[in-house]
Amino acid sequence: MCIEINREKRKLEIAKIVQSHKEGLHPCLSCKVAPKLGYEYGKETKTVPEKIEGTNKMKLVDKEFNYEFFTFYCPSCGFRAFPFDNIIAAISCWHTTNTPGNEFYADRWIELREKQKAEEMAAA
Ligand SMILES: [Zn+2]
Repeated sequence: MCIEINREKRKLEIAKIVQSHKEGLHPCLSCKVAPKLGYEYGKETKTVPEKIEGTNKMKLVDKEFNYEFFTFYCPSCGFRAFPFDNIIAAISCWHTTNTPGNEFYADRWIELREKQKAEEMAAA
């Protein structure tokens, strides 16, 4: 069975982690605004192999898993770092994509934002 997660408790845990990494969360490279965290969660069903008791055979069973996704984004321009299922990875991704004073990251930022704008246009 799928473990039930206390979401309120989990959100506090996440807020604590974000707070402790605040120094690493640069402002948005373009608008100098502090990023916000997008948090998505839910359950998904996956088909996984499971051993049939008392035999050496496997069978495929449907099991429910919890999932979480973290994405830092700029509330001003809408720039989004990549989504991760790990909060530290999401923090680190934002940190890198918004590195100030670096031409390479600035070019990459613009490229990524243009791609996101095109996706937003296509989805509208
Ligand atoms: Zn921005």
